Amino acid sequence: MVRPHDTPHDGNLAEARPCFVTHLECSQTGQRHEAGRVHGLSTSGKPLLVKYDLDALSAHVERQVVANRPAGLWRYSEWLPVRSVEHRLSLGEVQTPLVPLPRSQLARGTLLAKDEGCLPTHSFKARGMAVAVSMAHGWGLSRVALPTNGNAGAALAAYARRAGIEAFVFCPADTPEILVREIAARGAHVWRVPGLINDCARIVSEARDAMQWFDMSTLKEPYRIEGKKTMGLELADQMGWTTPDVILYPTGGGTGLIGMWKAFGELKHMGWLSGGLPRMVAVQARGCAPIVKAYDDGSESAAPWPDASTVAAGIRVPAAIGDFLILRAIRQSNGFAAAVDDEAILAAQRDVSERDGLLMCPEGAATYAAYKQELQSGRIADDETVVLFNCASGLKYSLSPVTQQWDAGDRFRWPPR
Ligand SMILES: *Cc1c(COP(=O)(O)O)cnc(C)c1O
Repeated sequence: MVRPHDTPHDGNLAEARPCFVTHLECSQTGQRHEAGRVHGLSTSGKPLLVKYDLDALSAHVERQVVANRPAGLWRYSEWLPVRSVEHRLSLGEVQTPLVPLPRSQLARGTLLAKDEGCLPTHSFKARGMAVAVSMAHGWGLSRVALPTNGNAGAALAAYARRAGIEAFVFCPADTPEILVREIAARGAHVWRVPGLINDCARIVSEARDAMQWFDMSTLKEPYRIEGKKTMGLELADQMGWTTPDVILYPTGGGTGLIGMWKAFGELKHMGWLSGGLPRMVAVQARGCAPIVKAYDDGSESAAPWPDASTVAAGIRVPAAIGDFLILRAIRQSNGFAAAVDDEAILAAQRDVSERDGLLMCPEGAATYAAYKQELQSGRIADDETVVLFNCASGLKYSLSPVTQQWDAGDRFRWPPR
């Protein structure tokens, strides 16, 4: 049965609700920036974080009221910066399932995958872009630009078209083919660029002023992180306002990890979470592991990774502008950073698919490889509840070819002789 509030025209998109944003703050210096106008980086050139009046927010809503609203990221509109109901863009964001992986589980503690491949554009980039493009739409911006390893470009293209905004997208030349085509099919202008995502970023910053682009790069505007924050709000909500012991997050630019940690901090401040906070674990590929190296070295920021290479395209980010925020979240949460190699990633993808029927993307599979590795190392304990983030649909990537054939004239035999 379809209830009216389950349709895309649901209450979350129709109901005017107050906004609790007070100001924005430089994530490094703490300097205050006024809300209500267009921002990129802070005046010190660092990411800006959105601040809310959490006391007023908790006086206004109750957990049960929130939990009874239609599912999806706009359920949490009071924790988001979009003021006007007309500017909330939606392509039917769902509450992504927490899928138990009982056969893949290697310890007593429960293993769950949050399957973000079920979102519009089939990756969790939809969360960040739904909110950031809604803000751009509210400001009346007409052109946006982005360097991307693929999924962010697809999500930007989709929400920008929804808002009637023109999107210009630059991807490394070896971005998975389907993603480049998806970006074009969703109505953005897209170019392949020889090099890596930072080479694409350079093009965006150089042409920005002449082209009147608003730069939607990871953490160079303050609102994608707010959209990604809904992963943390939604996870806590799904778990009855508790959190797991450990969250394994495939980390590129780190928006999701930083965003979730921000969400848990906000919920904790409001007194909504029972139990402790989760340990946040940044998972990277051994061929591109700047955060892991910085964590192991005890550094507060990460050096750019030379010759970055991995099958997990979404986490091939050699230098992240929010490196210090990722490291801060890992350390504050008593988490850690772990690197896994490409072979382990591909084996993990096969294992989870064959055992539990969930086809993870390589980045998601990296978190399973890390789960296995860190149970062995003892950094994850045998009885802990672990959540893996499967950040995109496994169907977005190339799969192994199938060469078996059966001649229609032959009688089928199994097993083959
Ligand atoms: C973007 C992306 C990531 C990394 O997410 P961040 O929050 O930027 O670290 C991981 N996996 C996939 C599939 C992605 O598209």
